[in-house]
Amino acid sequence: MIVDKLGRRFKNLRVSLTSACNYACTYCVPDGKRLMPAREELGADELLTLVRYLKDAAGIDKVRVTGGEPLITPKFDDFLLGLGALDLKDISLTTNAQKLSEKLDVISAAGLKRLNISLDTLNPLKFRQIARGGDLETVLEGIELALSRGIKLKINMVPMRTVNRDDVLPLLRFCLERGIELRFIELMRMGHLNQGQGFAQDFLSMQSLLDLIGAEYEYERTDAPFDSTAVRFKIPGQGTFGIIANESEPFCSACTRLRLSSDGYLYGCLSSPRRESIRDLLTLPRHLVLPQLQARLLSALQVKQQTFQGETTVMKFIGG
Ligand code: SAM
Repeated sequence: MIVDKLGRRFKNLRVSLTSACNYACTYCVPDGKRLMPAREELGADELLTLVRYLKDAAGIDKVRVTGGEPLITPKFDDFLLGLGALDLKDISLTTNAQKLSEKLDVISAAGLKRLNISLDTLNPLKFRQIARGGDLETVLEGIELALSRGIKLKINMVPMRTVNRDDVLPLLRFCLERGIELRFIELMRMGHLNQGQGFAQDFLSMQSLLDLIGAEYEYERTDAPFDSTAVRFKIPGQGTFGIIANESEPFCSACTRLRLSSDGYLYGCLSSPRRESIRDLLTLPRHLVLPQLQARLLSALQVKQQTFQGETTVMKFIGG
């Protein structure tokens, strides 16, 4: 098994199915950028083969499908159904839910029981300002339909001081009423936010969030699994919420994540630009793949940082 000096190994894989997205969220995509797939994206079968190799070489047992927006690529159905047949311990999906209603049959057929949906506000105007694509009503319809089919949901919100601070409590209320766990993702210094004033202006710390929430709800901190990225809280009798506190309470020392981009690169750490291409493994005879992959996994693991330092890589290329 490949383990680093902090005892970290790769257990969770995030696959960015495409870097294209039907949104252009202000915190993810710089102004004026077009949302295109990477130039040499791999197909569903090629990505599935790489996932199978990673499962064998690193003991990956959990896979999260992300992007870009995974539901907009034509390879989504084949990839998800193929993943469902790989005998993994857990498969999950992160989506903006713009196409959720039409993809629920495939999602259920692949055996997924839970989804993460990104939603930063319940205000239609603000929704358009942040996402710069899609529409709120469609997302809400997708959420209700998924719930009615018994799928467990988490909603990811990126709270920003000057943008959607006022939406924290309405969104929390919305989630508590529906048995959804709201997860606040502290704004990360990724992509264009790694330079300039945007990050400092809009960063809302875990404590500021808890102060906001504490004005309306009594909450208590609860246990989270060892390699969970979220700090979890319970609102007695009402539900739970979590905070992914990249800055306030970094979880790097327990991070077991590995990322595979749609063009076949492995990223060992969000806080490092270093990446390892593994697409050439697709052309190697099977018996040569494992030793090659293990060597590349070892160097991907050595890239893992002790704290999140910020990174210029755009999230849509490597998946959130
Ligand atoms: N399109 C899918 C979606 O919207 O969920 C999956 C990809 S998106 C890059 C995954 C997650 O990354 C989203 O929840 C998004 O809010 C988050 N994200 C992107 N850029 C971020 C940043 N700078 N700080 C915090 N979260 C970010």
